[in-house]
Amino acid sequence: MRRSPVTVLSPDVLAAQGAEAGATYARLAAKGLKLDMTRGKPSPEQLDLAEGMLALPGNRDFVTEAGEDARNYGGLQGLAEARRLFGAMLGVPAEAVVVNENSSLAVMHDCIVWALLKGVPGGAPWVRQEIAFLCPVPGYDRHFGLCEGFGIRLIPVPMDEDGPVVTEAERLAADPAVKGMWCVPSYSNPSGVTYSDATVQRLAGLKTAAPDFRLFWDNAYGVHHLTENRPAPHDILGLTAAAGHEDRAFIFASTSKITLAGAGLAFFAGSKANVAWYLEQAGRRTIGPDKLNQLRHTRFLRDLDGIHRHMTGHRRLIAPKFEAVLEALDVRLGGLNLARWTKPEGGYFITVEMIQGSAKRVVELARGLGIALTPAGATSPYGRDPTDSVLRLAPTYPSVDDVRTAAEGIALCIHLAALEAGGLERAA
Ligand code: PMP
Repeated sequence: MRRSPVTVLSPDVLAAQGAEAGATYARLAAKGLKLDMTRGKPSPEQLDLAEGMLALPGNRDFVTEAGEDARNYGGLQGLAEARRLFGAMLGVPAEAVVVNENSSLAVMHDCIVWALLKGVPGGAPWVRQEIAFLCPVPGYDRHFGLCEGFGIRLIPVPMDEDGPVVTEAERLAADPAVKGMWCVPSYSNPSGVTYSDATVQRLAGLKTAAPDFRLFWDNAYGVHHLTENRPAPHDILGLTAAAGHEDRAFIFASTSKITLAGAGLAFFAGSKANVAWYLEQAGRRTIGPDKLNQLRHTRFLRDLDGIHRHMTGHRRLIAPKFEAVLEALDVRLGGLNLARWTKPEGGYFITVEMIQGSAKRVVELARGLGIALTPAGATSPYGRDPTDSVLRLAPTYPSVDDVRTAAEGIALCIHLAALEAGGLERAA
């Protein structure tokens, strides 16, 4: 996202718009709404799409493709059929995939802890030196919090419509403390940006001072399309290998927003050396994952077409919610040049960029209407947005009607905050 828009409002316009917006706010506040647009959670209807999975694998169905008993210990890397299915989803070979438990965030956490204590292939334990991570902004607050919890310094990198600004990433990666970079390459959280091929290629070949630098390639939204377009995942393993950095990418993903957010499967994928490293650590941590859940998923989704079909069900449920938000923003703010917002083609979020210095005020005004928003600043490292201008909207969980009402309220609050600031010239 680039600079905030700039508008100068005349006193007459301010007075007229202020009176209308103030009256509408009072009317809406009297309704006593209770709406939550804070987190990117699937709605109950989305979870219902996977209801058939709860009956699987079913009575006496526990024998895997390799003829093993899925009820028992073992199978650290995951069932071959699960690795094949989700390898196809991630665009990597089955042997490059490890199937874990239900949370990719937990897999990322383990990788950071193991990197700190043991080092990654080709490097010493990170904990022996100061460590920093590059954080494309706006980004995912839990990525930032994970690093912060271990004392890893967070360095913001701006995003544009092609993904992270690579020249800036390269300048910052000249510091040997920089060991990693968070990347959400498809429908980024929260901007919805999908990295361009050129950006991915440049990240694959990025010059870094640290030889053991890793791209933390979180493909959380790889198949979460909101239109009929279904871009394939970037071939990050192929590109890093071609650039001479075979071990650069740690890939993460899960089925949290495909099947069940609390009972899905999470994946690690990477080069041969990275998978061997991961399994070596994981083998001390567990005697094996829940393979019945892996069978359940493979029986239910079957193949890549099955995943796409299932995701079409999600799209039908959530695309109208995104449309409702965009429409509400457009009705109140379109043409006023007081804010701009993303029109994502996939993922879970809409990002709104408003007058500098007004995002916190918008959250406060929305709270006054009974609408809970993600705190202003959450999309920046340390929860601090120096411009106080970015908000993340998460429209998937509430019903379409509630989303529409909430979005109308939010648009109103953005308008009011802009008017309070007297238009953008005074707030910048
Ligand atoms: N990565 C990103 C970019 C996300 O947006 C989310 C969920 N909001 C996660 C990871 C968490 O995934 P999981 O449920 O697999 O831990």
